[in-house]
Amino acid sequence: MTSTIDETASSVADSPARALVCRGCGAQFPLAAQHACYECFGPLEVAYDPAALARVTRAQITAGPPNIWRYAPLLPVGQDPSSRVTLDPGLTPLISAPALGAELGFTAPLWVKDDSANPTHSFKDRVVSVALTAARGLGFTRFACASTGNLANSVAAHAARAGVPSIVFVPGDLEQGKIITTAVYGGDLVAIDGSYDDVNRLCSELVETDEFEDTAFVNVNVRPFYAEGSKTLGYEVAEQLGWRIPAQVVIPMASGELLTKIDKAFTELVEIGLVEAPAGGWRVFGAQSAGCNPIATALHNDTDEIVPVRPTGIAKSLNIGDPAAGLYALEAVKRTGGWMDYATDEEIRDAIQLLARTTGVFAETAGGVTTAVLRKLVASGRLDPSLETVVFNTGEGLKTIDAVAEQVGPTYRVKPSLRAAREAGLLG
Ligand SMILES: *Cc1c(COP(=O)(O)O)cnc(C)c1O
Ligand SMILES: [Zn+2]
Repeated sequence: MTSTIDETASSVADSPARALVCRGCGAQFPLAAQHACYECFGPLEVAYDPAALARVTRAQITAGPPNIWRYAPLLPVGQDPSSRVTLDPGLTPLISAPALGAELGFTAPLWVKDDSANPTHSFKDRVVSVALTAARGLGFTRFACASTGNLANSVAAHAARAGVPSIVFVPGDLEQGKIITTAVYGGDLVAIDGSYDDVNRLCSELVETDEFEDTAFVNVNVRPFYAEGSKTLGYEVAEQLGWRIPAQVVIPMASGELLTKIDKAFTELVEIGLVEAPAGGWRVFGAQSAGCNPIATALHNDTDEIVPVRPTGIAKSLNIGDPAAGLYALEAVKRTGGWMDYATDEEIRDAIQLLARTTGVFAETAGGVTTAVLRKLVASGRLDPSLETVVFNTGEGLKTIDAVAEQVGPTYRVKPSLRAAREAGLLG
């Protein structure tokens, strides 16, 4: 929708964003609904006016609302709260996890950033709030996405709150918990007979048609704005640690975008002087499942060639076989001295229970992936348990309850009498 460039100018005039820049060749474009470079077809990213970012203060942020919009002066949207399409996500708990740390051999603090506490129970509410606020400013009148589940859930809910029609596309074999929590909001939900990568390809074709000219696909035509929403997870962790950056972070990867944006958030905070880099910098670690590990495999094979896979396994929210930001995730992990690993379905199920039992957080399969990979990284010596570490839980266990349904259940079955309780061994 190049016709909306003029509207862009007004809707983001008071945002610190200045242009879209190609991550491949560096070409610059105006802020608009465009996601690929006209020169080299590379992906585009939002670039900011450094002077505008440098004016942001800690006091300004802490005086802001208790959600992601406290960081609005660092995001590519206008500053008027009435312009927002949002469920006001963010400022989710950063939980101290000493029991998990003890079990894994940590001597330094270990924290769980629990983003299942967002309104639709995943970190996707952050990216959707930013993308749809930008999209409405750009003049779009229908909201859409290609999703592995949580994104569809969040887009449908945001559209319902804003009173805007939505149409979301998902692979047909998603968990019930993701289908129902999306469909309940009443928008159109299109189940595609294929993988996420098939869904994404179809959406890239639909977005070019006249019939979808009015439609913002949050992770297709407004993807650069969407991606920036993930920065708020990095900002929050730093603020919640008392304006410090942890030495190590462990992040789940689907497209790899979230990982690159947490790193970008830390980099910005240091550049604009809100936070000092930790001595020795920070290290970024990426987590995938064994059923979908193209980025981690490229790292293990010491190559920048990411070979797409056909995903399998229970970590469906991470099942992107052809990850759009994979190269940039590799770059961030190598530059910071981190590492990547992947976990089998069995390790994921165990780790969901480990996290629950030691922290009180019930994670979806993606959180199981991240916790399992944390454990592996410590065991292999790649991650240093004597350095402060934050592990990200990005989704809610109730949405993928089947993952552990056969592993856990009542520990006793007893008739309601004292004698039966004694006979069952409840009294010792
Ligand atoms: C989408 C998603 C991710 C990863 O997102 P990317 O930015 O595509 O890497 C992680 N966890 C959960 C639960 C998700 O839904
Ligand atoms: Zn380019």
